[in-house]
Amino acid sequence: MSKIIVLAEQQFGKLANATFNAIGAAQQLVAKTGGSFDIAIAGQGIAGLADSLNSFGAGAVYVLEDAALENYTAQAYAQAFGAAAKAAGATFVVAAATSIGKDCTPRVAARLGAGMASDVVAIDGSAGALTYQRPMWAGNILGRVKINTAIQVLTVRPTEFPAGTAGGASEIKSIASGVDASSIRMKWVKLDSVKSDRPALTDASVVVSGGRGLKDPENFEKVLAPLADHLSAAIGATRAVVDAGWVPNDWQVGQTGKVVAPNLYIAMGISGAIQHLAGMKGSKTIVAINKDPEAPIFQVADYGLVADLFNAVPELTEKLKNR
Ligand code: FAD
Repeated sequence: MSKIIVLAEQQFGKLANATFNAIGAAQQLVAKTGGSFDIAIAGQGIAGLADSLNSFGAGAVYVLEDAALENYTAQAYAQAFGAAAKAAGATFVVAAATSIGKDCTPRVAARLGAGMASDVVAIDGSAGALTYQRPMWAGNILGRVKINTAIQVLTVRPTEFPAGTAGGASEIKSIASGVDASSIRMKWVKLDSVKSDRPALTDASVVVSGGRGLKDPENFEKVLAPLADHLSAAIGATRAVVDAGWVPNDWQVGQTGKVVAPNLYIAMGISGAIQHLAGMKGSKTIVAINKDPEAPIFQVADYGLVADLFNAVPELTEKLKNR
């Protein structure tokens, strides 16, 4: 019988939405293997968050509190989540493939002596013969991997798994954090985050992204932002413009940036390099505006406009405002 544990993610007392997708993946594992799942949440002063996790049918929500877990460090959190997995007798460990999930989960796998598949986009097969699909080569191929260890550790791509569905209430259990503070060699210093009133890139239902075709960083404000604001959208960008210092790092969409799958993705002045497509081609509807009819972005676009963005985008924004 499989026993699955979901590693919930929180920062500063706020649960990451991606945790609900990890719960969705755990529910799929339960359906395929039989068995049950638990959830672990770690931090300091986070007992209240357990209430947001106890209606998905998990057997238990384990709460691990420790002063060393007040702010995220991979070392302390890996110790805590490793302890939770052991306490639960987990045979599967599931976390979301977010920045924190990608940072911490391999350490949890190492602590458990477990094999790991990262960035899983689909789970196939059934108990004893599970395989995991994961993108390779910048998303150009999907590999199928099998894990042969007794405990299997996964990070799952949040955009590929539906949020968990409601289930029975769970028992909330406080357990020892398992953190040995004297062994922690990482120190949390501060978080440098970009403050914005716009929705977070990975949560937004509309993303408006710009590339080098915008020509100048100022045009993100002048041309792109009015459309994004009208649509209550998050703003994304290509690595080319991030590397050029036009926009902040955390706007980058793609293989080495964020993976998004909004309902609507509008790409303007973006060529559609494979590394960019790797981060957005799962979007429900893709609109591309590019003056080059041969631009690869048109191969994944549902709607393509071959036009100069400096004419097309202000006109589109105006028309939408006047609707
Ligand atoms: P370009 O390729 O220069 O495209 C600009 C587009 O704008 C062109 O298609 C042009 O026709 C169009 N254009 C120009 N003027 C106008 C106008 N007036 N109106 C309309 N259209 C116009 N890239 C990412 O985005 N994300 C990643 O995570 C990422 N990771 C990478 C990882 C590696 C290991 C490597 C090697 C590369 C990575 N890249 C990534 C870079 C990627 O290969 C491309 O270089 C980059 O995506 C190109 O950005 P761009 O589309 O803005 O620029």
